[in-house]
Amino acid sequence: MIFKDVYFLGSDNAVHRGDIAVRDGVIVYTGERAPVGDYGEVIEGKPRLVLPGFVNAHCHVPMTLLRGYGEGLPLDRWLYERIFPFEAEMTEEDVYWGSLVGIAEMLTSGVTSFTDMYSFCGSVCRAVELSGIKANVSRGLLSLDGGALRDSQGFYETEQLFADWNGAADGRIIADASIHAEYTSHPEFVRELAGFARSRDAGIHIHLSETRKEHNECVERHNMTPTQYFEHCGVFESRVTAAHCVHVTGEDMALLARHKATAAHCPTSNLKLGSGIAPVPAMIKTGVAVALGTDGASSNNNLNMLEEIHLAALIHSGVAEDSAILPPGETLQLAARNGALSQGRENTGVIDAGYKADFAVLSLDSLHLQPLHDILTGAVYAAQSGDVEMTVVDGKILYRDNRVQTFDVREAVEKATAAAHRIARLLP
Ligand SMILES: [Zn+2]
Repeated sequence: MIFKDVYFLGSDNAVHRGDIAVRDGVIVYTGERAPVGDYGEVIEGKPRLVLPGFVNAHCHVPMTLLRGYGEGLPLDRWLYERIFPFEAEMTEEDVYWGSLVGIAEMLTSGVTSFTDMYSFCGSVCRAVELSGIKANVSRGLLSLDGGALRDSQGFYETEQLFADWNGAADGRIIADASIHAEYTSHPEFVRELAGFARSRDAGIHIHLSETRKEHNECVERHNMTPTQYFEHCGVFESRVTAAHCVHVTGEDMALLARHKATAAHCPTSNLKLGSGIAPVPAMIKTGVAVALGTDGASSNNNLNMLEEIHLAALIHSGVAEDSAILPPGETLQLAARNGALSQGRENTGVIDAGYKADFAVLSLDSLHLQPLHDILTGAVYAAQSGDVEMTVVDGKILYRDNRVQTFDVREAVEKATAAAHRIARLLP
């Protein structure tokens, strides 16, 4: 395909105008005018902004089934009293349909890849495979009873995930290891899983210092912060995505930076659940890679990455009383390139020759973008997910003109809705 005469975010983080040519899923040209040739479909004729595809760096995609369920509780009560009992009733098929709904929703806001933590990972992977999106999928392991890793059902499922799906769908699916959190684990369990991840050269996905209570209780239990606890267990010897990082200390930040871990910043979830606001500018200053995530649909309550971009850009300016603390170009970099790197995907997240053709294509003709002096501030502060005209993964258009191209969204919504209501009826 070739995009002719579009605006695009270049590798220098500035907006350029010209052509983007793609062959075999890879960008072969960016610049003023592509050499004459047959690139396949020609996309031209209206004002468009092509951005590197967004990476949702922290998600629980099947949790679309729990959207709006168990509202109004603090995180610990919400988890133990509402979420865990609901999840105990979910089947493999429920997870599949819930995942398809979540993926469809992500495609409508320009998401080309996501990092997920859940159970029934085979169902998540089947949905990813069908949809054409990319994902790093992991089974979130918990050890509430203090049992050994090797005896746990979750570890069995992790091994299955790696055997069946790692590198599947032309490399679109990557299997990661995962520990849910410090407060749902014990050190020996974590140490063993870290060893497993090292032996597979795999990434690890965790929740980290999401709430003040979690952070302080860990310090009481182990005389260590959650970050120190995971370092102590060997987790940071692998590529780590640490979701939230709301209550990390200065020392924690230095530790995360030293180990090249990525903090997945989830502003909506943290605000909604009353967890706080992550010290993103301080993390960036300390050298921590920060990416953006939506978290699950039940703690957000949507999977709209443009909203996370908008919110991240706003709240840190407000907290720091400095409107330049997280400029639009940098915010978009958190949403795309940093997310891609957190997934171990070096070959995407940049619009330049040689990188994968993963794009969020925004139409620039809607009313709230008229007139427009500055395209990047338009994308970050004014654009809505309805402006996403196309989502492209590996050069394939997965979403276009309000339609997901790869599967029947209406069927997925019907099946997911039936599952959600069936489970809700079973519970008090
Ligand atoms: Zn989460």
